[in-house]
Amino acid sequence: MTVIVRFAPSPTGRLHIGNIRTALLNWLYAARHGGQFLLRLDDTDRERSTEAFADGIRDDLAWLGLTWVREERQSDRMGRYGDMADRLRASGRLYACYETEDELQRKRARQRARGLPPIYDRSGLRLSADDRVRLEAEGRRPHWRFRLSNTEAARGDQPMPTLVDWVDLIRSDQSVDIGSLSDPVLVREDGTPLYTFTSVVDDIDFGITHVIRGEDHVTNTGVQVDIFEALGAAPPRFAHHSLLVAADGQALSKRLGALSIQSLRDDGIEPMAVACHAALLGTPEAIAVYPDLATLAEHCELERVSRSPGRFDIAELRALNGKYLHQLPFAAVSERLAAMGIGGGEAFWLAVRGNILRVEDAKPWWKVVVGPIQPLIEAPDVLIAALDALPAEPYDDTTFAAWTATIRAQTGVKGRALFHPLRLALTGQEAGPELKALLPLIGRARAMERLAGRAG
Ligand code: GLU
Repeated sequence: MTVIVRFAPSPTGRLHIGNIRTALLNWLYAARHGGQFLLRLDDTDRERSTEAFADGIRDDLAWLGLTWVREERQSDRMGRYGDMADRLRASGRLYACYETEDELQRKRARQRARGLPPIYDRSGLRLSADDRVRLEAEGRRPHWRFRLSNTEAARGDQPMPTLVDWVDLIRSDQSVDIGSLSDPVLVREDGTPLYTFTSVVDDIDFGITHVIRGEDHVTNTGVQVDIFEALGAAPPRFAHHSLLVAADGQALSKRLGALSIQSLRDDGIEPMAVACHAALLGTPEAIAVYPDLATLAEHCELERVSRSPGRFDIAELRALNGKYLHQLPFAAVSERLAAMGIGGGEAFWLAVRGNILRVEDAKPWWKVVVGPIQPLIEAPDVLIAALDALPAEPYDDTTFAAWTATIRAQTGVKGRALFHPLRLALTGQEAGPELKALLPLIGRARAMERLAGRAG
């Protein structure tokens, strides 16, 4: 069996770290099993869905390297949903209801007053053809509910559970009591189908073998399994992953703007750092940063995703980004450095990558190399000796050790008392990349100016 998974965002906003976790867990699962990853745009909400958001979603996925073999959009499939709804009508599983929202609210209030669960009483199911003609003559249009396969007894004064069970890849044995739920509306008054239904039709038609999504969908799964069966299809396997929460335990939804993939990207976070962080949070696997998605897939086992929420902390993601850059080869960034006007080739990158958290942090170090910078002068005697001993070019990464050995022999100054004044003079900074790597880049002419206390 070929594994086929899907990521099904609604194009009503940009992707954020929480829903990119769903995308990743799907993509990585497909990668581990030689399967296929589909992109499905859940755009039945025509008012809130936009083409710009759809483009944004594609853009964010592509930036992360999450490629898809097929794209589908629900708005293209309205005819198909209509046919499948007819099939449910024909088998008596989809029935017309005419209550207004007000009427439903009053019913629920009465049920609560009698100590009963406020679930839909299925009056629609008992309407005769004459009743319907009369209601429609009043100008009412029906909405359509799916008759859950629980017994009528389950709806009486002493509700009986009707369990839908499945073995979840993450949460193991699960059951949802559909006896405690209202028959869901699958088709609105204006004829538009709702997600609960369209998702099942798509999962059947696209041969989805595994539905991997957030645990906020667990109850939906109980209902959807029932719809799969009503349509004569075997349900796929399900995996419901825990949701991310903010570092302070609050729901992430409160700060989604700041946590959009776009804003992380604008903030200089690298795609692999986002991917590793989003996929490995809330797993027993240490959050390491892997060089590519294929390697991450080897370390991301869906079955080991924890049931407790993953805590998302932007500071941890920034630190992880740094770790990623610290081992990133020059070839991976050379074009971006060039576009930023940074030269110095591989030697410069290797000198500074350990001191930056974002690629653009390399810029101020390039300024330190090419100058002009204002040197900071501490221990002028040491600097005079250093100037005297400064060797002739060419320089390499052994030059600094040989030079400082000479200064030490001549002045007796060593350790911090020697290195700190040299750093302040050569870079104008308290701390930074190793001087042995910077000196060959700074070169003799600029080093002479700076050791003499002049801008260079
Ligand atoms: N559009 C739904 C959502 O974003 C898809 C859920 C699913 O994976 O079935 O919540």
